Amino acid sequence: MTSADVKKMARAFGADIVGVGNIERWEGAPLPRQIMPEARSVIAMGFRVMRGSLRGIEEGTYFSNYSAMGYGGITYLYMPMTVINMAKAIEDEGFEAVPMGHQSDWRAIDNEGGLRANYSRPVRPGQASPDVMIHLRFAAYLCGLGEIGYSKMLLTPQFGPRQRVGIIITDMELEPDPLYPDTDGPKLCNRCMACVRDCPGQAISGVKTIRTTLAGHEVEWGEIDCKRCAVVFTGGLPTDMALTPEASYLPGGEGNGVTQSPWTPFNKKPRNLYNTGQAVCGARGCTRACMISLERRGVVQNAFKQPFRRRPVWSVDWSDLHQDGAAAGQASALKTGGKEPD
Ligand code: SF4
Ligand code: SF4
Repeated sequence: MTSADVKKMARAFGADIVGVGNIERWEGAPLPRQIMPEARSVIAMGFRVMRGSLRGIEEGTYFSNYSAMGYGGITYLYMPMTVINMAKAIEDEGFEAVPMGHQSDWRAIDNEGGLRANYSRPVRPGQASPDVMIHLRFAAYLCGLGEIGYSKMLLTPQFGPRQRVGIIITDMELEPDPLYPDTDGPKLCNRCMACVRDCPGQAISGVKTIRTTLAGHEVEWGEIDCKRCAVVFTGGLPTDMALTPEASYLPGGEGNGVTQSPWTPFNKKPRNLYNTGQAVCGARGCTRACMISLERRGVVQNAFKQPFRRRPVWSVDWSDLHQDGAAAGQASALKTGGKEPD
């Protein structure tokens, strides 16, 4: 089986984009080889988020569609099926394949990359804790699928920020793809900062950046406040409030999470759909604003007949909030005249 065969099969199984990286690119990031010491290759598959799945959160009409069809259904159902089918095809050839969809519920690290306290411990000296998990966006970068944008989102020439990623680690040797910055593809992230400006939680710093080196390439993104993102994403926190325990409306069971937030349009926490829910922010900065910016520049191949932003943008209305957390007015409103991403 060649790299070309793998790509053809993965697309037939349902992946939209496929890239291959050799294991040497994970030098300094030993996780794939901790999981499979004989690993030779990593295959990354991208699954597009439909632009139509963003329509309802853009306009405040249909929140469940992004949660279910744009997020959970891809992440927890469609992607694992495709990744498992591809892994089966590789194992039919006599090579082992570790299928990795999205197993972050068992993740030993938190959103900032620190170890979760009192969660798990290494089973032998010199190893990381089990289930530390491989960074899927970095894996996609190392398999040549695209760039890491300022927002830390994976940007691809096919879909911009609109995809989720699953991977396979295998001991099959495959021809690697070039990293995207080494190709003649257009530069995707031009530091337009639309993601920073449109993030309702101000969760992406416009000044503080994080840098790392991936396969000899320096990659830099804005520091992400994942705690703010997690709360704002569910409609729990206005832009200008400090993240205190009192102001935190983290997702939880019934009677928790958005049920207690006066800023979400939901009076009751919606039931999870495919393990996700409450996408009230709807990735307004990191996905929608970025997508609009990339589409305007004409650098995304998945082009549409009409521009995405056609009507006023829905947003939580935080204009009449008291700092003590009480909402004086409407919990949500159609915000007219919102600034268009540049
Ligand atoms: S919105 Fe602009 S700065 Fe942010 S990731 Fe997209 S292209 Fe880069
Ligand atoms: S999901 Fe929403 S709150 Fe989180 S970074 Fe993206 S735009 Fe900001």
